[in-house]
Amino acid sequence: MALAFDEFGRPFIILREQEQKTRVKGLDAQKANIAAARAVARILRTSLGPKGMDKMLTSPDGDVTISNDGATILEQMDVENQIGKLMVELSRSQDYEIGDGTTGVVVTAGALLEQAEQLLERGVHPIRIAEGYEMASKISVEHLDRIAQKFEFSLNNVEPLVQTCMTTLSSKIVNRCKRMLAEIAVKAVLAVADLERKDVNLDLIKVEGKVGGRLEDTELVEGIVIDKDMSHPQMPKRIEDAKIAILTCPFEPPKPKTKHKVDIDTVEKFEALRGQERQYFDEMVQRCKDVGATLVICQWGFDDEANHLLMHRGLPAVRWVGGVELELIAIATGGRIVPRFQELTSEKLGKAGLVREKAFGTTKDRMLYIEHCANSKAVTVFIRGGNKMMIEETKRSLHDALCVARNLIRNNSIVYGGGSAEISCSLAVEAAADKIPGVEQYAVRAFADALDAVPMALAENSGLQPIDTLTAVKAQQIKENNPHLGIDCNDVGTNDMMEQNVFETLIGKKQQILLATQVVKMILKIDDVISPSAY
Ligand code: ADP
Ligand code: MG
Repeated sequence: MALAFDEFGRPFIILREQEQKTRVKGLDAQKANIAAARAVARILRTSLGPKGMDKMLTSPDGDVTISNDGATILEQMDVENQIGKLMVELSRSQDYEIGDGTTGVVVTAGALLEQAEQLLERGVHPIRIAEGYEMASKISVEHLDRIAQKFEFSLNNVEPLVQTCMTTLSSKIVNRCKRMLAEIAVKAVLAVADLERKDVNLDLIKVEGKVGGRLEDTELVEGIVIDKDMSHPQMPKRIEDAKIAILTCPFEPPKPKTKHKVDIDTVEKFEALRGQERQYFDEMVQRCKDVGATLVICQWGFDDEANHLLMHRGLPAVRWVGGVELELIAIATGGRIVPRFQELTSEKLGKAGLVREKAFGTTKDRMLYIEHCANSKAVTVFIRGGNKMMIEETKRSLHDALCVARNLIRNNSIVYGGGSAEISCSLAVEAAADKIPGVEQYAVRAFADALDAVPMALAENSGLQPIDTLTAVKAQQIKENNPHLGIDCNDVGTNDMMEQNVFETLIGKKQQILLATQVVKMILKIDDVISPSAY
């Protein structure tokens, strides 16, 4: 530090550190970037696989999250480094596209970078490495196509779908109930799936959770569950054959705008105003009754007077229902969302066979179940669990399972998990490397080595000797020419993943390799990190 004075004699301090801070460029920049990205990958490595560890993350305001999901961990980690952020982005893209495999993709990218670093040290130009990686990823993806299998499922035989969802859930905290949750996920997806178009709209599956009960009490409700109750305790708790008016207009008399003025200076005027307000309410309630509604679901609130009147006139109501839920209710019951009372007609009412309020435990918490809807294409998974963290993690795990089931409906190709697909690709890439002329050959070989990272991490996390296990499995794959051999994480006694029923979707695995390669290429091509303070 040095003290200096400006032209008016005011002192100011020069920070030496600023001068010493130099911008890294060239090979140093690449190495620094690789180190940063690998640091992020290292964190996730221990979370991979059925025996992977969970991470506990605290947010700045003290909320605690416990998760095993790569995308969630990285999202909450608040990575500062720019290159580290690319890895977060990588995990997020896998989550958006596929939903599962978010840890694996980061581990693969980390391994690719590790290999690239060694090549850089040996003087291979980053562009050559990038090109070699590109070639190798193409070889891997083609190889995956070759070893992939199709399985047929029908509405009567959903076992393959359930098995694949179970593989996804086996690495999560909820693996105690994986069979049950996998069945719920498959049923939910099939309920909303359009098998003809091979499309699934996951928006129609609502996942709701409530603290209490046990995980085993989690259920699939054919309809909508919302965390609301009737607006008045004396309203009926059970409505059969409900005709539902779905309103986005408030049960309120119109409020005077600020530019208008209402002067109330006598009792008569006040009475008149009160009478007028009552009449408004009366008309609104009458309007709903006239069209035949037996239940009103309202996006906005209404005051005590309206509430009382609704109860009195025998029109049950639910208030403060969120926009998304309102839309789901409208879809499920075949109703229309009505923005003005004048537009309410009997065709716009939604229909549900049963609307009931259900209480939980000893608390006053109640939830509203809307079941037997006219259009049954909307379901709710209602999760129970000991605490909030558990429920949140169950929601995330279920999301992975739902995505996997959807991916299988879109494309029913699978590859085997437990690192078997990676080992098989690694062998294929290794074999192809010999035929490639030029320096790229080294990069292709490095790619083959990097593919071993996933099985290696799986073995390590399961308490096995990583190198011994991997080499043994690799040798066995070559000997038996069987691409289904992987790491026996759960010590079942066989490492044939076909026998263990450990499946992953083909598109998920392909996407992992493609995305990881893309990001690594991107990082390799950065040779200068310029931030505003560095000029
Ligand atoms: P990701 O977020 O990448 O899905 P996971 O923690 O879910 O990470 O781990 C997935 C990996 O664990 C996959 O490579 C999968 O094949 C493997 N895996 C899952 N279940 C088993 C099992 N029972 N035996 C061996 N490997 C398994
Ligand atoms: Mg997973």
